[in-house]
Amino acid sequence: MAFEGLSERLQGTMTKIKGKGKLSEADVKEMMREVRFALIEADVNLKVVKSFIKKVSERAVGLEVMESLTPGQQVVKIVKDELTELMGGEQSKIEFATRQPTVIMMVGLQGAGKTTTTGKLAGVLRKKNNRKPLLVAADVYRPAAINQLETIGKQLSLPVFSKGTDANPVDIAREAIEHAKAEHLDTVIIDTAGRLHVDEQLMQELKDIRSIKEPDEIFLVVDAMTGQDAVNVAQSFDDAIGITGVVLTKLDGDTRGGAALSIRTVTEKPIKYIGTGEKMDALEPFHPERMASRILG
Ligand code: GDP
Repeated sequence: MAFEGLSERLQGTMTKIKGKGKLSEADVKEMMREVRFALIEADVNLKVVKSFIKKVSERAVGLEVMESLTPGQQVVKIVKDELTELMGGEQSKIEFATRQPTVIMMVGLQGAGKTTTTGKLAGVLRKKNNRKPLLVAADVYRPAAINQLETIGKQLSLPVFSKGTDANPVDIAREAIEHAKAEHLDTVIIDTAGRLHVDEQLMQELKDIRSIKEPDEIFLVVDAMTGQDAVNVAQSFDDAIGITGVVLTKLDGDTRGGAALSIRTVTEKPIKYIGTGEKMDALEPFHPERMASRILG
């Protein structure tokens, strides 16, 4: 399960101080040492760990029993608040265009779950937001990606716009947007090419697609299991093309949590959705507070 190690360690630390009547500086120091260790073990970015520890320490020293809460209970609340803040505070909702269609570009490295997430997102937007999505197969370098998207479209009974592997991705995206207008489909979700590494050619292609019609959202799909690599990938994509949000996949696996806890602070871009399985309905809006509660048990 995701965050297991981090959860266990944090909960263990919190239990130790729960009953204390007053927290001394030494108590806080000892607790913070354990929290720091837990975060580092969970592969959280070092800068993020440092600022987190500083914030919690400042709020925790000198706490006394207040309104029937022991200092320990108050610290648990502080840690929860600050974990929530780390992950963006409020839930970040998707932006729809005022003029149809809304265009969402899905970007990411190969294997992150981009094509799968394109389908899942379309399903969620149809069900929860009452949208009429068009899936666009613009990953022309991996023939299997087009078939995969077509299969997903069939499975979900959603239209897929594709022109095979010979067409240019920019033309595909342009024509898809025209097609959506003609067919009154209000949400165009473009599955762009993925590569094994961030490279100049990929970024240029994404910029070209972006320039057809400024997308309302550019979602970077990253695999939570890759930890700090996911954070670096997010930073690279954001620097190169400017992303509006992140979809963190494979949170059903045993990820330690580093990506989820670092991406927002490092890139200043919100996590919008999380992938929680291989099935088409395994995509959820990301709620920072719920995630923090889950971690602290
Ligand atoms: P792409 O190369 O980025 O388009 O990646 P794919 O969409 O082909 O996904 C790669 C693999 O990851 C596939 O086997 C997916 O089923 C799997 N996958 C995607 N999202 C999730 C998720 O949230 N959880 C799990 N367990 N697997 C996922």
